[in-house]
Amino acid sequence: VKELYPEDLYGYAEKLTDGEIEVLQEVREALETHVRPVIAEYWENADFPFEAFKKVSEVGIMNNPKLYVDREGKRKPSELYTAFLYLELARFDASIATFYTVHGGLCYNTILIGGDDRQIEEFAPKLASFEWQGCFGLTEPDHGSDIAGGLATTARREGDNWILNGEKRWIGGADTADVIPIFARDVEDNRIKCFIVRKGAQGYEANPIPHKGSLRAIRNAHIKLEDVVVPETDRLANINGFGDVAKILVFTRADVSHIATGVTAGAFISALKYVKERDQFGRKLGGFQLVQEKLARMQANVVANIGYSVRLAELQETERPLMLNSSLAKMHNSLTMRETVAMAREVCGGNGITLESEVMRFFTDAEAIYTYEGTHEVNALIVGRELTGLGAFI
Ligand code: FAD
Repeated sequence: VKELYPEDLYGYAEKLTDGEIEVLQEVREALETHVRPVIAEYWENADFPFEAFKKVSEVGIMNNPKLYVDREGKRKPSELYTAFLYLELARFDASIATFYTVHGGLCYNTILIGGDDRQIEEFAPKLASFEWQGCFGLTEPDHGSDIAGGLATTARREGDNWILNGEKRWIGGADTADVIPIFARDVEDNRIKCFIVRKGAQGYEANPIPHKGSLRAIRNAHIKLEDVVVPETDRLANINGFGDVAKILVFTRADVSHIATGVTAGAFISALKYVKERDQFGRKLGGFQLVQEKLARMQANVVANIGYSVRLAELQETERPLMLNSSLAKMHNSLTMRETVAMAREVCGGNGITLESEVMRFFTDAEAIYTYEGTHEVNALIVGRELTGLGAFI
């Protein structure tokens, strides 16, 4: 496992089981074989490499029997494996990791946490096998950070059906997804509820947002919902307010802290390789003191981020995971990620600004990661509220 993650200087990966390491090794091989040759081109063309990602998913990244931890009948890999899976995907490419967090984190957890037994039985296995693609429709054009209070999409009950109206923005994979959880406000009791819109539903329109300069290889959509009919049987009965949505975000915010860890590691690995190969003033760049200081700082950020991710994963296994822990890790790992990608790009000089070098992808992709799943400020305010007992959002 030391060979798999040389950047993991303190050896956190040794906590993984043999089965988990085997799966992660297979993921690495699939990424190298199928994704590496095409990812830069897909990023440039603002398209997702579905065929290549399918090969990665065939390893059984969510449902390989080597991974199973059975929690009261709800099958889910361990949080530690999940942390290293994100590290693996994101040290390779952040759009791929983001696609996975939308599907295997946000959508899958929405079904597990919000669904009843019948709904879990219908959706979870097909999502875990990637037969169905999932997404997560929470953010709106006029409500991002203030979504908890501001959510404006409406749900009106008519007999056995609900009628949805409104707009969603930034929804990853929504133009191709089969399972589209939409969060809407019940016009009767004003509570936020969750409705599964299925692919092809009448009145559902999802158009990719053009001209993104970050995470270009995942398509984010602007959704319009016009009198979309969802049967009561496709409402997730265990979501009845933002408090229930937060139970999902506790997990997915942790996932994004792991993605930040992966991007930090990926940028560091690329930069290290580059300075060992590039000569200036008649010797390797890596031999200059000022460059080594940057390498040491990047390495320290990687170790700190893996430490946050691993301990957070352990804490997530407890009965009631805390938002404080996820927010602290997301905030910390995103800050150090941003510092690291800048240093990595810097030591690669001019070559570091072309897409030929992966550091440029890491550099621009870090910006979106810094913003989604709670911006830096929102996560800082959550930590600040815990520290002081004083809410400072408004
Ligand atoms: P705003 O809320 O408008 O914030 C703008 C700035 O103001 C930020 O810096 C913010 O921190 C700051 N700010 C806001 N309020 C305060 C305050 N009280 N105090 C101090 N500062 C404040 N959403 C989904 O539902 N599903 C997805 O799949 C999804 N994928 C995404 C993918 C990408 C690439 C991106 C960029 C976003 C995605 N999002 C998704 C949405 C994401 O969660 C939001 O962008 C995020 O919550 C921030 O909302 P906003 O962009 O509207 O920014």
